[in-house]
Amino acid sequence: MQSAKLEHYHSRLLAERDQLIHEMDRIRDSIPEEVHPPGEHETAPSEGLEADVSLATSESQRLRDIEAALERIKARTFGKCANCGREISEARLRAVPSALHCATCEKSAGAI
Ligand SMILES: [Zn+2]
Repeated sequence: MQSAKLEHYHSRLLAERDQLIHEMDRIRDSIPEEVHPPGEHETAPSEGLEADVSLATSESQRLRDIEAALERIKARTFGKCANCGREISEARLRAVPSALHCATCEKSAGAI
């Protein structure tokens, strides 16, 4: 991939990462410090809280994908499928710059 394009995806990924970190901070702030208090007060977390926790989990997964994509830009392997090594289509990268797999592998592996 050309340097200019790599640079373009690099800045998009950085912006996305910043946004995600900001969002995760917001979620973390909304989760009470002690979800499982020790001792007798073992109350089940509310549904809303569970949703927030699972949202935080999927956000941190996305953050890992973005970090991995940034590493791949550094290593100059960005744009190649991590599974089969084929080029990931530009349409796909434009939609999901952090995509680590081509559409074919993503489909066959389910939601990665
Ligand atoms: Zn692939």
